[in-house]
Amino acid sequence: MTAACLMTTYQPLALSFTRGLGTRLWDQQGREYLDAVAGVAVTNVGHSHPRLVTAISEQAGLLLHTSNLYGIDWQQRLAQRLSQLCGLDQAFFNNSGAEANETALKLARLHGWKKGIEQPLVVVMENAFHGRTLGTLAASDGPSVRLGFQRLPGDFIKVGFGDLAALDAVTREFGPRIVAILLEPIQGESGVQLAPPGYLKALRAHSSQHGWLLMLDEIQTGIGRTGTWFAFQQEGIVPDVMTLAKGLGNGIPIGACLARASVGKLFTPGSHGSTFGGNPLACRVGCTVLDIIEEQSLLENAARQGERLLARLRVELSEHPQVLAIRGRGLMIGIELATPQRDLAERAAREQGLLLNVTRGKVIRLLPPLTLDSKEVEMIVRGIVRLL
Ligand SMILES: *Cc1c(COP(=O)(O)O)cnc(C)c1O
Repeated sequence: MTAACLMTTYQPLALSFTRGLGTRLWDQQGREYLDAVAGVAVTNVGHSHPRLVTAISEQAGLLLHTSNLYGIDWQQRLAQRLSQLCGLDQAFFNNSGAEANETALKLARLHGWKKGIEQPLVVVMENAFHGRTLGTLAASDGPSVRLGFQRLPGDFIKVGFGDLAALDAVTREFGPRIVAILLEPIQGESGVQLAPPGYLKALRAHSSQHGWLLMLDEIQTGIGRTGTWFAFQQEGIVPDVMTLAKGLGNGIPIGACLARASVGKLFTPGSHGSTFGGNPLACRVGCTVLDIIEEQSLLENAARQGERLLARLRVELSEHPQVLAIRGRGLMIGIELATPQRDLAERAAREQGLLLNVTRGKVIRLLPPLTLDSKEVEMIVRGIVRLL
């Protein structure tokens, strides 16, 4: 299906859509699908939300871009809103998740530099995914994304996700060089992997004790996906730095790096920047997405429907010989299969009119819009039961 004039970085299904509304998409033949992918955790408030349509068209008619050489009112408003929601003081806006993580990694470098650390190291996790730039690839794990791109920046040390003994070991070996820990609160691309209870709290304490920055990549888990604004809010901690993207723009590209004031102030005029980052369109959309989530009580809905979906999947599939585990939080749910099923996403679309994602070859990942209702929960459950 990939045209010869496109670089083949993806293998898209023979399926393309012309229209979307809420949780539904329509293909070129006019067939309707239930979207449990949401463009990989992006369209959290659903497709073509009328308030977003208005905000985007109004802003397009007013002003799209002026650059950061001038004040941008919507950027300040979005920074203030996000800051109130997450408890971090300052924001820097990017165009993507990878760039937001690069921003965080640059803050970590400055944090080390200020302390006179000459060869700074950042602790990252096995099976992590942080993006496709050379820096964020180096922080990610696995040959599938890294093969052929050596040498990557080597300033990372990897520990097992959830493994506190491994963290103690690298602390003993490299402690004085370590400046930060970067991790996803729930690992998305590697198949919805949850950390053991108390892990984030332990990392928070460990980071504070050693003067490291605790940096959370909430690009997939944030903006209501797990039933709270940010996944860390269910762990009783606040990080020093957090990155966002995906759901913040509901399809309009935007990324953000938020930080405590003492960390954000490490940047000075000229030390970081972006041409497009934080433009009036993207930031107005970000503000509107937050408004919609509040007005439609989508955090509560994601928590409630997520619990329902998880419970129903467990009732229907726990005994299934193909199913090894069912896990998740809010509307971020993974079903781990015993054997890889390469054509599952394609069959789900064709046979059940259901869009789902299969990650790592054998984890069905469900990331529906946060507006999902009980009837649609049943449609997803029945669709998957029929498929397996
Ligand atoms: C998607 C994702 C990224 C990368 O975001 P891009 O916008 O594709 O650069 C980084 N981290 C996590 C956890 C993600 O899910």
